[in-house]
Amino acid sequence: MVKVPEIFGTSVFNEQIMKSRLPKDTYKAMKKTIEEGLPLNIDVANVVAAAMKDWAIEKGATHFTHWFQPLTGVTAEKHDSFISPTAEGGVIMEFSGKELVRGEPDASSFPSGGLRATFEARGYTAWDPTSFAFIKDDTLCIPTAFCSYSGDALDKKTPLLRSMEAISKQAVRILRLFGHTAQPLTVKTTVGPEQEYFLIPVELYNQRKDLIYTGRTLFGAKPPKGQELEDHYFGAIKPRVSAYMKELDEELWKLGVLAKTKHNEVAPAQHELAPIFTTTNLATDHNQLTMEIMQKVAKKHGLVCLLHEKPFAGVNGSGKHNNWSISTNTGINLLEPGDTPAENAQFLLFLAAVIKAVDDHQDLLRISVATAGNDHRLGANEAPPAVVSMFLGDELNEIIESIASGSEYAGKEKVQMEIGVDVLPKFPKDSTDRNRTSPFAFTGNKFEFRMLGSANSIACANIMLNTAVADALCDFADRLEKASDFKTELSALIKETIIAHKRIIFNGNGYDDAWIAEAESRGLLNLKSTPEAMEKLLDQKNKDLMLKFGVMTLAEIQSRHEILLDNYSKIINIEALTMIDMARKDILPAITTYLKELSDTAISIKSVAPDLDLAFETTTIAKLSKLQGSIATKIDVLEEAVLEVKEISEVLTQACAYRDKVFAAMQDLRAAVDSAEAITAAKYWPFPTYGELLFGVK
Ligand code: ADP
Ligand code: MG
Repeated sequence: MVKVPEIFGTSVFNEQIMKSRLPKDTYKAMKKTIEEGLPLNIDVANVVAAAMKDWAIEKGATHFTHWFQPLTGVTAEKHDSFISPTAEGGVIMEFSGKELVRGEPDASSFPSGGLRATFEARGYTAWDPTSFAFIKDDTLCIPTAFCSYSGDALDKKTPLLRSMEAISKQAVRILRLFGHTAQPLTVKTTVGPEQEYFLIPVELYNQRKDLIYTGRTLFGAKPPKGQELEDHYFGAIKPRVSAYMKELDEELWKLGVLAKTKHNEVAPAQHELAPIFTTTNLATDHNQLTMEIMQKVAKKHGLVCLLHEKPFAGVNGSGKHNNWSISTNTGINLLEPGDTPAENAQFLLFLAAVIKAVDDHQDLLRISVATAGNDHRLGANEAPPAVVSMFLGDELNEIIESIASGSEYAGKEKVQMEIGVDVLPKFPKDSTDRNRTSPFAFTGNKFEFRMLGSANSIACANIMLNTAVADALCDFADRLEKASDFKTELSALIKETIIAHKRIIFNGNGYDDAWIAEAESRGLLNLKSTPEAMEKLLDQKNKDLMLKFGVMTLAEIQSRHEILLDNYSKIINIEALTMIDMARKDILPAITTYLKELSDTAISIKSVAPDLDLAFETTTIAKLSKLQGSIATKIDVLEEAVLEVKEISEVLTQACAYRDKVFAAMQDLRAAVDSAEAITAAKYWPFPTYGELLFGVK
């Protein structure tokens, strides 16, 4: 039996280990660095490195790596062993402060979107002491940021840390106005990401080139049953999956990931894992680790974990819910309605800041979740639409409405709502009415941003969210700091903000087409696809915002624009080539074989019984050979589209062409193939069907 408290964090060089293994002074210096972001001097780094190395070697590690998050969205590592030669011809195990603090991976093949000139192909990695080192695969992994020599961030961690600093600084300005005197006073955003995924048997996966090359099925007729009975959601977990989940939990616990809930999801073969929330920076590292360990543990159980946003057409895809809040180092959750009118006034101000942020920066939130994979989900009636809106719940909404109109709040406690700090009612603490269709929902003491795709790094969403809210808080602080009467100005500010940004609040059904029409009439953005969304990243307002808070430089924004669009195009290109390959080499020949069997059978029957009815054979031959002809033509059309679009050099034009020409031709080819699958005898079909993949039916 596993004793959880005993295995928890055993692979992490956490504070407890530091305390027990570092000299007192070193530990104190480390703690200061972690808590206040102060730089470490090299003498301290040397002592920490030596202690880390001894600990890692005791745990069986032989190598170390700087572990970082390049713009590809996955993590990268380059392993070096601890060995160092001695004069006597032997080796000793060494690890210096310099090696801990800074690394120089040969990073020339990571995407940089033009940030790194080829003559200085090497970027460097720099230790992030706020995220603990850990052991994975007998290797000591050191979480690091990844930058170019000119100082541009080539990763997702650096802007995330900058955005956390930005929101902390602005929130503290506001908190001071509310009379918080703690020293030091800092604010951290917290995140708990719920992660959805599919599990399928490895032997079936290995037979499908589309899953292997692209992570999703590019063909597949609908099985007789989908998810309509909703009998999988929260259903009993099968033994094989249950064994997988148990081992996954244990592996994550060892790494200090607070894996908490697990259950079956809506679609067949779909599941979810949610950790307990933690600081955004750590939650991001942990989510990257979680995705990696999920895939690794699956292999041990003869399964493959699919993290793609839409592995199967016709059943729900997978998302990630980014539960987000803001807390002070003194333990106050700033999005939690308080007990006293003064606390509630503070809550309302932070709430107003989030409302303003989401409205002002809808585009950035949409951009932060824009990928080729996620485009399949957003707006497809299974996930939030591509329109960003906010849900507050009935009770909070009523309060907001009454503030805006200056009318009486008719809720549980009837008090004239004038935001006079003294007359604020006590808020209902738990707004339990849940709206699963909203992209951005208030859930009592946090917001749940639900547009993220399952494969997304959560870094981008949180960079945008933190910066957008920092921007709103900064405007508020500028105004309130100048106010002659704080309370009067506060009331006016909250009221004006709500009135100005109310259009972003929508408490109805987000999956309803009527909402999309209404959203457009409210002037909300509907950025349907990745190219449309990415185009907005370069808007002046977005450049100004990133520069104002030092979250990204112009070059960093430009590079991200380029890399993300290029990635979108590359993904569609790989999918198109995979389809062409499967259709030509596997599907057409399979149809030919079945047609031959039908024709041979018809000839044989005719020879022994010339008068028999051969209606099945003849009509199937007619239908199938017609479909076969159409498939062959559609392959050619797709191939031509790929060749044409590949020639386009401007990234945005090219991405749009991939969407309009290549993706459209892919859909067309798929439709013909799926029709052929439906009338081809099962034993001839060249790879496992949806029935097999999702239900194990041959
Ligand atoms: P549901 O499925 O109802 O949305 P879950 O329990 O699956 O709820 O997920 C809720 C997530 O929200 C958990 O990861 C939880 O730790 C996280 N969470 C709770 N409080 C906060 C907070 N203050 N900040 C960030 N995340 C939070
Ligand atoms: Mg949720």
